[in-house]
Amino acid sequence: MVSWFSKLVVATTIRMPRWFVKWVSRRYVAGPELSDAVNIMKRLSKENACFTVDVLGEEISSMAEAQYFYDEYVRVVNAIIDNNLDANLSIKPTAFGLLIDAEKGFANIKNLVKMAAEHDMFVRLDMEDHRVTQDTIQIVIDLHEQGLTNVGTVLQGRLFRSLEDIDFLEQKLGPMADYRICKGIYLEPEEIAFTSYSDIVSATNSCIDKMLSAGAYCAIASHDIPVVKHAKSALESYGMGPNIQDPRENSGAKRNSKGNGYEFQMLLGVRGPLRRKLAAEGHLTRVYVPYGAKWYEYSIRRLKENPTVGAQVAKAFIMPWTNRP
Ligand code: FAD
Repeated sequence: MVSWFSKLVVATTIRMPRWFVKWVSRRYVAGPELSDAVNIMKRLSKENACFTVDVLGEEISSMAEAQYFYDEYVRVVNAIIDNNLDANLSIKPTAFGLLIDAEKGFANIKNLVKMAAEHDMFVRLDMEDHRVTQDTIQIVIDLHEQGLTNVGTVLQGRLFRSLEDIDFLEQKLGPMADYRICKGIYLEPEEIAFTSYSDIVSATNSCIDKMLSAGAYCAIASHDIPVVKHAKSALESYGMGPNIQDPRENSGAKRNSKGNGYEFQMLLGVRGPLRRKLAAEGHLTRVYVPYGAKWYEYSIRRLKENPTVGAQVAKAFIMPWTNRP
């Protein structure tokens, strides 16, 4: 259930002038330029964070737009190397053309993953709405089968299918499976997804348990205390933790710029104190850094997709002690 307050915040924000939306979103978006993302990463490196970079934008209407994303991500790879940043890539398959020309979209993604592999850099395929869940998973499997193992995807706790997807990916990729687990931002229909807060938390926690028991790499992407607490106690039960080599017998070898079988991930601008606390405890923490000219479309779309985000943004401004960057 989306509260009336969230709906009100969204309805109000999308009617606000562009400068207002920009003012609100500057906390969550590095800026319009790649140099903005680089500057933020340099600053947050001092807080022991590492990064994953997202070029804003997703579903596109022509393959020419897909070329823009490909070229921009190539610039990101070069900027990461030139600035010696501990960062990898997060990409949205639909921005590469998945829903327009699946074959060309795959080729674009493959070329980028190949380029990243040459620099020992990981690429995460963000998970979009349920129309592309299966295709996104399949792209990861196909790339691994073609020898590109520096790629993984995201599973969304709210989707009923996620536990089966972990089984399927375990079969296909074994210990090379590398996930981000999150609740899922898209409000999916109740036929395929949990819709209540407590069910979503509990399903997300079950996914964390299953990923850990499958020997997979598990990036826990949540700012929610019950999820973070659960993850920490699950990790402990496997003897996993800061500065401990992954003790699971079924896990894969440690990759460059990754944690010992797990990491925590947070969005830029959200719950900084929690992230810094985890980092101070020795956990690897990664910040998701979005940037790009399409910051306005991105902000409005996120609000429309999931109005609860609106309430969280408003709460962060009205009661800053609940969520500092
Ligand atoms: P919530 O209960 O939503 O949030 C817990 C608390 O965190 C809130 O009370 C609030 O204080 C704070 N908070 C959370 N979000 C915000 C915000 N936007 N503004 C202000 N405060 C906030 N979803 C996908 O569907 N696909 C993806 O590929 C994907 N990638 C992600 C990558 C990262 C690194 C992260 C952190 C999230 C990603 N998500 C993705 C979004 C995720 O699915 C959730 O929608 C989002 O993280 C909110 O869920 P939560 O677990 O943080 O819990």
